[in-house]
Amino acid sequence: MTDIPANLAAVREKIAQAARDAGREPDSVTLVAVGKTHPAETMRLALSAGQRVFGENRVQEAAEKWPGLRADYPDLRLHMIGHLQSNKAAEAVETFDVIETVDRPKIARALKKEMDAQGRPLPIFVQVNTGEEPQKGGAAPADAPALAALCRDELGLDVLGLMCIPPLDEEPAPHFALLAKMAADMKLKCLSMGMSGDYETAIRLGATHVRVGTSIFGERLPRNP
Ligand SMILES: *Cc1c(COP(=O)(O)O)cnc(C)c1O
Repeated sequence: MTDIPANLAAVREKIAQAARDAGREPDSVTLVAVGKTHPAETMRLALSAGQRVFGENRVQEAAEKWPGLRADYPDLRLHMIGHLQSNKAAEAVETFDVIETVDRPKIARALKKEMDAQGRPLPIFVQVNTGEEPQKGGAAPADAPALAALCRDELGLDVLGLMCIPPLDEEPAPHFALLAKMAADMKLKCLSMGMSGDYETAIRLGATHVRVGTSIFGERLPRNP
């Protein structure tokens, strides 16, 4: 049995400790609890334990899981943390409160159009492919400043900061350090980086948002076909 309130308490304590170790306030780090593959009833256990910020990586799954929960917890905030196709922009803007995975001009423009149409100007992160992995989403580090400028200056989007997912088989710290330097150069305040295996490292390197799934909800469940 996964004891979600206990897991959440343990993760929150580690976040607070890592923040204090880095000379930062514990509440300068937002825990994004990643619920992908786990059902709404499981999310409800985290909501009962006081968690309010969640992440999902698929529009369809989130659109099925979260409206019912929102009815009971109107103050919850849902972050999109997965690859986003332009033809899902409308449903993404309806379903999420923050889009963390803006990684190319086409999706930035599609989101802007939908935010205007729906009157929902959502904050975003620009995702950076710090490892330059061909199969992974994210703007190449060399392209990220121009993309952030397009989002902020031309489209007028509320760009909170940068997000990255380091390569699985590499030491994450250099990727976190690179993302922090890029955000500082672009004068962006937020850094979404760090998952179950490395969120304490990410906090030491400046993470303001950590995305934690397995350490809270246990192993991911097989998806329905
Ligand atoms: C699944 C996922 C996470 C959470 O990963 P865990 O290792 O389970 O904590 C974080 N970020 C993204 C983008 C994810 O897809």
